[in-house]
Amino acid sequence: AFTSDKQKHAVDALVREFDISPQLLQDIKKNFMAGMQKGLKKDGETLAMITSYVVGRLDGSETGSYLALDVGGTNLRVVSVHLAGGGEIITRQTKYRIDEKLKIGEAKALFDFMAVCVDSFLDEHQIAVRGDTQIELGFTFSFPVLQTSINRGTLISWTKGFNAAGMVGKDPVAYLQDAFNRRHIPVRVAALVNDTVGTLLAHAYHNPETVMGVILGTGCNGAYIERIDNIKKWKGDASAKEMIINMEFGAFDKEREILPLTMFDNKMDRKSVNPNKQIFEKMIAGMYLGEITRNVLLNLIDRRLLFEGGISPDINQMWTFETAYMSTIEADASPHLHATRKILESTLSFPATTMNDRQIVKLVVELVGKRAARLSAAAVAGILEHTGAWHQKAAIGIDGSLFEYYPSFDTDIMDGLVEVFGQDIRNNISIGLAQDGSGVGAALCALLAAKHATP
Ligand code: ADP
Repeated sequence: AFTSDKQKHAVDALVREFDISPQLLQDIKKNFMAGMQKGLKKDGETLAMITSYVVGRLDGSETGSYLALDVGGTNLRVVSVHLAGGGEIITRQTKYRIDEKLKIGEAKALFDFMAVCVDSFLDEHQIAVRGDTQIELGFTFSFPVLQTSINRGTLISWTKGFNAAGMVGKDPVAYLQDAFNRRHIPVRVAALVNDTVGTLLAHAYHNPETVMGVILGTGCNGAYIERIDNIKKWKGDASAKEMIINMEFGAFDKEREILPLTMFDNKMDRKSVNPNKQIFEKMIAGMYLGEITRNVLLNLIDRRLLFEGGISPDINQMWTFETAYMSTIEADASPHLHATRKILESTLSFPATTMNDRQIVKLVVELVGKRAARLSAAAVAGILEHTGAWHQKAAIGIDGSLFEYYPSFDTDIMDGLVEVFGQDIRNNISIGLAQDGSGVGAALCALLAAKHATP
């Protein structure tokens, strides 16, 4: 496929740089497991291993009606979740746009808005309560929060364009509950939920053997069920046997001990809003893969090994090569790589591309995508080995557009697990798309909170 030796050498070098060999996958897994142990011993380690205060497992027989509130993206979402038992769920939801002014205004106004949305949702769906009972709500607040109980925590920092005044160090649940109370809205915030924990629970309702929830979307992270006597730093109530741990594993290898970062990763990292942070996440998650690919393509262009050195103004701009294009290019099996051509020539306005150009672009995409999936596999393998879940029947729920849409992500993860544990793992472990962690998962979290409340 190569038109010159120079091109072949350049591509061979890339293949080596992006390869996660079976040995390296094992080494990363080992280092990851050591990081888990550290984080379970004390606070402030690279893997934060945050205790979620969620104890108890689900078996799908749970029933009840709950509300969920999901804040952290472009839209605010209110969901009513009716758990009918037998794994059956009925949900209704409404999305509300959060005005940009609210995101950076007074915290009270932002939380009042959340309460007003919940109130109008109750009206719209004619949900009423009898007497002085309250509706239990699970609150998915997708910002870094240091949790201090199932429904208490303090905001560490705002992210994603939110910056409401005076909130850092404060408890978002207290603000929300206060806003409900002032309006006499009969809702109680029963649980503060991380999206990974919600994903685990939402998957567990249908698959009670679920041991892990993973997010592979804009960012990446995971949660799993840990034995409380393994959580050495835990000083709280130890009457329950297990607790879900939110790992915050995107921060893995802050020390840069093990991950094979390339110059293309470093270039992207330097220009990111959080340089030197979330190194592992930056090699895996949807927000970054397209940019890494763009950096590789630019390097090949500058060396006149691609597009005959020709450029498009689009690709000179950072973040223009979307990770979604990678999914399309990976899936392009047409004889002339027609879909790849369309992205390059129509979307990114490159002048006419050759078949050879398109093949190289496809190869680069595959290298970046496969590396991400194999690194995810190393993390999943680390958790499975740490917990011993690999030799029993267990399920893993994964949410996020990267996992959902990237063509080979699931099979690449499973192939990585087979390398580590052998073929039997295919029968023992199921990996499935888990959806609606922030709706159904948050409701289930509210349910568990009520069930296991310590007086
Ligand atoms: P979030 O993680 O913010 O809840 P998503 O799960 O939708 O939201 O993830 C969004 C991320 O997924 C973006 O970074 C985007 O680049 C990536 N993405 C969106 N569509 C695709 C796709 N078809 N293939 C691969 N990645 C995608």
